[in-house]
Amino acid sequence: MVDTIRLAARDITFGYVPTTPILADWSANFHAGEVVAITGPSGRGKSTLLYVLGLMLKPTAGQVQIDGTDAAHRRDADRAGLRAHQYGFVFQDAALDATRTVLDNIIETTLYRGTPRKPTIRRAHELMDQFGVALRAGAKPGQVSGGQAQRIALCRALLNDPQILLADEPTGNLDPASSDLVVDSLHAQAHRGAAVIVVTHDPALVARCDRRLEL
Ligand code: ADP
Repeated sequence: MVDTIRLAARDITFGYVPTTPILADWSANFHAGEVVAITGPSGRGKSTLLYVLGLMLKPTAGQVQIDGTDAAHRRDADRAGLRAHQYGFVFQDAALDATRTVLDNIIETTLYRGTPRKPTIRRAHELMDQFGVALRAGAKPGQVSGGQAQRIALCRALLNDPQILLADEPTGNLDPASSDLVVDSLHAQAHRGAAVIVVTHDPALVARCDRRLEL
């Protein structure tokens, strides 16, 4: 499985201002079955790289290949479809919709994929149990802690059974026991064939990744 390149960056260049590229001719392969840490100083462009790899920002040059085919320059609707079907995202700020319950936040993208509601809700409850946030299912995101929000975002990402899982500081607000649970789940998703990419400053998380790329 680890020989399969799930996601590849090919000579990616990106800058918010074209004259000052944050990424220049950047290339990397991410294999099915591995958890890769992206590290580097603050402001270097790690989150930006995740947005490019996650098809939310278009590189000015270069390709983001999924299973060997460029996805970065496809139509908006195609990229949205790929994000919904292939990706799971855990953003630094959890990016939960404040107007909807925790459960609705978790199931929304999966329902968008067309997965039936009942098994989706059952699986969402299993994940919430696993990550210790089941009691928060009916709460609004404004009523949960930062650490809970992160785990809720992880439940949402895993519910999609993503082939590509991108996480930005997923253990940032967590105690060691919850961090271990999160890292275990990243590896479990990799074992299911996903390429897992984690931006982190957490030495304990880096130590448990299969590989580290320094930006
Ligand atoms: P890191 O994740 O390594 O801390 P970021 O990717 O967040 O780095 O940011 C890289 C650089 O891009 C920083 O200088 C940051 O200020 C800048 N930046 C981030 N987001 C934007 C944006 N939306 N518009 C303009 N500049 C941005």
